[in-house]
Amino acid sequence: MAGKADKRLLKQYRAPFRGGCKLSQFDPEDTGGLSKAKALKLLSRDQQRLSELQNVLYAEGKHSVLVVLQATDTGGKDGTIRKVLGPLNPQGVEVSSFKVPTAEELAHDYLWRIHKRIPAKGMIGVFNRSHYEEVLVVRVHNLVPRKDVNKRYEEINQFEKHLAANGVTIVKFFLHISKKEQAERLQARLDDPSKHWKFSLGDLEERKLWGDYQKAYALALGKCSTPWAPWFVIPANHKWYRNYLIGRILRLTLEDLKLRYPKNKDDLSGVKIV
Ligand code: AMP
Ligand code: MG
Repeated sequence: MAGKADKRLLKQYRAPFRGGCKLSQFDPEDTGGLSKAKALKLLSRDQQRLSELQNVLYAEGKHSVLVVLQATDTGGKDGTIRKVLGPLNPQGVEVSSFKVPTAEELAHDYLWRIHKRIPAKGMIGVFNRSHYEEVLVVRVHNLVPRKDVNKRYEEINQFEKHLAANGVTIVKFFLHISKKEQAERLQARLDDPSKHWKFSLGDLEERKLWGDYQKAYALALGKCSTPWAPWFVIPANHKWYRNYLIGRILRLTLEDLKLRYPKNKDDLSGVKIV
């Protein structure tokens, strides 16, 4: 269960519930006073516990968990999935990546493609980008009229409330890196031919809109961090701290569900294997 230190951690990195969110109050360089070696050790322990909890989640089949990952380009969404969730049982994890909507997706309401990918009971769903793109890239590039974007925050809150009331535990992470760190990561992609496939000239155009994106993120986190679907601002310049923090928050989130292995419907006490 969450002890005092863990409760403090959750509060420290959680965007205030619908109270506005100032990203300047979160330092992307923050490492919480931990050393890298210690953070790796703690992550490894949390991952073992997470694996056990995942097993009970599946066996019990009453809840599902939805992990939303959002970040600017190079923010570390892919690395988080690999390094934090990699050790889990792949049978119980579903990763969904949301790209530019297809013609079919655009012909539906914007939550249609999202709802289809909500994890079933027993499963952990991971969203690499999400419905939040609808108030991020869509807002920054004015892809739909502003008055419609402004309605989406409350629509999203209500959508998530409905999911939460129906057994989906939602936890949302914004991977917060600095503009300087992004420059270094883009440069590293340019310098390494094995990373060229990840490099898009479009990323440089998006980088020019850094300020607009930060504003759009602050707005989304401020309006859509709720008791039923909290947003966490994860300092992400240091990948090891990012991984530790996300692993810990996930462990605490699953522990909070008070999962139990179900009893077998048969009486197994007298059963003998012959
Ligand atoms: P990547 O995650 O690097 O593969 O890029 C996916 C791209 O799809 C990003 O540029 C996103 O901003 C874009 N994208 C995702 N969802 C939407 C959306 N709802 N509307 C417009 N663009 C989107
Ligand atoms: Mg990209």
